[in-house]
Amino acid sequence: MRHTSGHTGNRRSHHALTAVDATLCKDCGTPKLKHAACSGCGKYKGRDVLAKKVKAPKRTKKEKKAASKASSKAKPKTVKAKK
Ligand SMILES: [Zn+2]
Repeated sequence: MRHTSGHTGNRRSHHALTAVDATLCKDCGTPKLKHAACSGCGKYKGRDVLAKKVKAPKRTKKEKKAASKASSKAKPKTVKAKK
């Protein structure tokens, strides 16, 4: 049912966004949410609380090919029977 512009305005009076209450990390200076661990260094109140992600060294194309060949030799492909 169509309603008045005042009705729409009343509904939209609750749609305003509020700014995120962020602070700067004391350890690394990254903006972070209050009462939450820093996404930059993983610290909360000076303590390490988040496990750091350790990236594996990148493999070259040759190494990837060799690895896939070795795995395909070790495990022959099994063909599943269709129902
Ligand atoms: Zn930090």
